[in-house]
Amino acid sequence: MNLLSKHWIVAAVVMEAPRNCRRSSRPRIWLGIALGLGLFVQPASVIGASLKTPSGPIAITNSAVIIYPINHATLVLVSRERTIYVDPVGGHQRFEGLPRPDLILVTDIHEDHFNLDTLTLLTRDTTALVAPAAVADKLPENLRMRTSVLANGESNTLAGVTIEAVPMYNTTEDRLKFHEKGRGNGYVVTASQKRVYISGDTEDIPEMRQLKNIDAAFVCMNLPYTMTVEQAASAVREFKPRIVCPYHCRGSDLEKFKQLVGEVPGIQVLLRDWYR
Ligand SMILES: [Zn+2]
Repeated sequence: MNLLSKHWIVAAVVMEAPRNCRRSSRPRIWLGIALGLGLFVQPASVIGASLKTPSGPIAITNSAVIIYPINHATLVLVSRERTIYVDPVGGHQRFEGLPRPDLILVTDIHEDHFNLDTLTLLTRDTTALVAPAAVADKLPENLRMRTSVLANGESNTLAGVTIEAVPMYNTTEDRLKFHEKGRGNGYVVTASQKRVYISGDTEDIPEMRQLKNIDAAFVCMNLPYTMTVEQAASAVREFKPRIVCPYHCRGSDLEKFKQLVGEVPGIQVLLRDWYR
C-alpha cells in the first residue's frame, strides 16, 4: 500500500447550483469549491484536528431546494420558484451573490433574528415578509404593509410557498425569560414539494417532537438561550428529519450532537460552520 492510499483521504462533493442562481457569483463559488474538493487531500493523522467543518450549502436530494448557511440564525433557502431569507441580519453584504429575496421570514424580536436596517435594505416592491405580531409591531408602515402576520399554528401560502408558523419557546425554569410561548415563530416552509423546518429559538418542545415529514431541519442549540445538544438530539431522534443541521449553535459541541443522534436510519446529520 503506498503512502497516498494509506495516509490520505480524498473528499469529493458534487453539488448542483440551482437554476435561478446561475447568474449569481456565490453559488458558482460554492460549486467551484465543491468541485475543487475533489482534489483536496488531508493527512489521515490530523483528521478532526484540522479538517474544518464545511460552510457550503446543503442541497436536498432529488429537488431544486438548496439552503445556504449565512451566519448563526440566518439562512437563505433557494427553490426553483422562490428565494426565501430567514432572519436576515448583519447588513445586505452578507447576501452578495445570492438571488434577492421573494420572501423574508423573521422568527423573533431579538437582534440576532431581527434587524430593521437589513430588512429595509433587502426589501423590494415584490418582497413579502412573514413575522409574528411582536415583530410586525416594530416595523414601519412601509414594511408592515407587506407583512403576513402569523401566530403559532397559522399558515399562509405566498408566491407558491407555504409557510407554517410553529411554536418556539423555553421550557426550563431558568430559561423561561428568554423566549415566552407565543411570541416568536419557528417555521415549516414547503417549497418545491420539500418541507424545511427552521426551529427558531426553542427547547425540545412537544410541537417539535410531533413534526412529520420534514426533509431538512435547522435546529438551534446553545446555552443559556435555547437548549443543550442532548435535548436537541433527543427531539431529532423523535421527529426524524431526513437531514438535520444544527444552527444557532455558538459554543456547542456539534460532534457530540451528531454522536447522540447516532445511527438512526433515515436521518443524516450535516454540520456546517456558521461562524467562519
Ligand atoms: Zn437567537
